[in-house]
Amino acid sequence: SPPRRVSILGATGSIGRSTLDILRHAGPGAVEVVALTGRDNIAGLAEAAREFRAEVAVTADPSRYEDLKAALAGSGVEAAAGERAVIEAAARPADWTMAAIVGSAGLAPTLAALRQGRTLALANKECLVSAGGLFIEEAARAGAELLPVDSEHNAIFQVLDRPNRAAVEKILLTASGGPFRDWPAERIAEATPEEAVAHPNWDMGAKISIDSASMFNKGLEMIEAMHLFALRPDQVEVLVHPQSIVHSMVAYVDGAVLAQMGAPDMRHAIGHAFHHPARAPLPVERLDLAAIGALEFRAPDPVRFPALRLAREAMEAGGLAGCALNAAKEAALEAFMDRRLPFMGMAQVVEEVLSALSPFAPAGSLDDVFAMDALARAAAGERIAARIRASG
Ligand code: NDP
Ligand code: MG
Repeated sequence: SPPRRVSILGATGSIGRSTLDILRHAGPGAVEVVALTGRDNIAGLAEAAREFRAEVAVTADPSRYEDLKAALAGSGVEAAAGERAVIEAAARPADWTMAAIVGSAGLAPTLAALRQGRTLALANKECLVSAGGLFIEEAARAGAELLPVDSEHNAIFQVLDRPNRAAVEKILLTASGGPFRDWPAERIAEATPEEAVAHPNWDMGAKISIDSASMFNKGLEMIEAMHLFALRPDQVEVLVHPQSIVHSMVAYVDGAVLAQMGAPDMRHAIGHAFHHPARAPLPVERLDLAAIGALEFRAPDPVRFPALRLAREAMEAGGLAGCALNAAKEAALEAFMDRRLPFMGMAQVVEEVLSALSPFAPAGSLDDVFAMDALARAAAGERIAARIRASG
C-alpha cells in the first residue's frame, strides 16, 4: 500500500513525541510526513522535521521564523511561522492527522484538519470541551473519522459494542486521582506547582499534569466523553483507580461491564488510533497482571476535588458552558503556575466565572467559541486580580 500522508499538530509536545515514536515503529515507507508544528521548541521541531523529511515545519510563534529557517537550512523542509501558517499546514492534504496542540490554541488548526474529511486522531480535549457540538457536526459534514486519543476515550472507543450502542447504560471514566489523591484538604490547599506537576503514573505535559492533580483533567474528560459518545450527563461517571491499568469501562443494560486495560503509556492510544481498524504490535510495555496483583477502585471525593462537580454543572448547563469552564480554568492554571493563585483558588475562580456568565447559549460558530473563551478568561483574570488585592 502507498505510504500514508501524516501530519502532527503539536509535534514537539508529550503526545507529539510519542506519536513520532509510533511512526518510527511503523517502519520505513509506511508514512510520508506532511506537516509538523510546534511553538517554542525550534530545535526539537527542526530535528523531527529533518528525521522524517517533512514537507513543512511550522512554529506558531511568528517571531521565531528566522530561527526555524536557520535550523532547517539545507534540509529541504519548508519553514513557516505564525498562527495562520499552523492552520494552513493543518489544511494540507493528509490521510491521518494527530491533533496534539495544548489548550484552546488547538481549536482552529484542529478544525482545519477535520474539514479535510480524513482521519483525525484527537488528543486536544479542549476542542470537544469548548466546541463539542460544533466539532461533532463538522466531522459528520466533512465525513471525517474522529478517533479519540485521550486514553480513557480511546479505551471506551475500543470496548464500545457498536451494534448495541443503545444498550450502553453508562461509561466509567477511570482517574488515577493524581499526586494529591490521598492528601488531606489542608495540604492540597497549600500545594505548589512543583508538587502538582509530579504525576504518579503518567508522563505528560505540565498543564495536563496539574489538571490531573486538581482533577480538572477528569472534569474536561467528562465533557469530552459526553460529546464524543453522545451521552447524557448522568451517563458519565468517574471512578478513582490508582493503578491506571483499567483505562476506562462501558457498562451495559444487561449488567456487563467491558474494560480496556494496558500499561499507563499514551503510545497505546496513539498506536491504536494510528493503526485502526487494524491492530499492530506497539512499542509498549506488556501488562503483567500477576506482578501488579491488585486493582483498586473507589468513588472520587467531591469535597477535595470540586472540579468534578463543576464539570457536571457545565454538562448540565450545556451550550458554551464547557468553553467558559475551560477558559476560566486555563486562566486560573496559568495564575497558579505563576504563583499568583493558590491551588484551591483554581476551582473557586472557575465556579465564580461559571455562575457569573450563566446561562449559556449554544455555539453557532467558532467565533462564538472564541468570544466566550475571551469573556471567561477576562472574568477569571478580574477575579484573580481581586483576590491578589484582597490578600496583598
Ligand atoms: P505539551 O505541553 O507537552 O505539548 C503541547 C504542544 O503544543 C507542543 O508541541 C507545543 O509546542 C504546542 N503549543 C503550545 N502552545 C501552542 C500555541 N499557542 N499554538 C500552537 N502550538 C502550541 O502537551 P501534551 O502533549 O501533554 O498535550 C497535548 C494535548 O493532548 C492537550 O490538549 C492535552 O490535554 C491532550 N492530552 C495529553 C495527554 C498526555 O499524556 N500528555 C493525555 C491525553 C490528552 P512547543 O512545545 O514547541 O512550545
Ligand atoms: Mg486522559
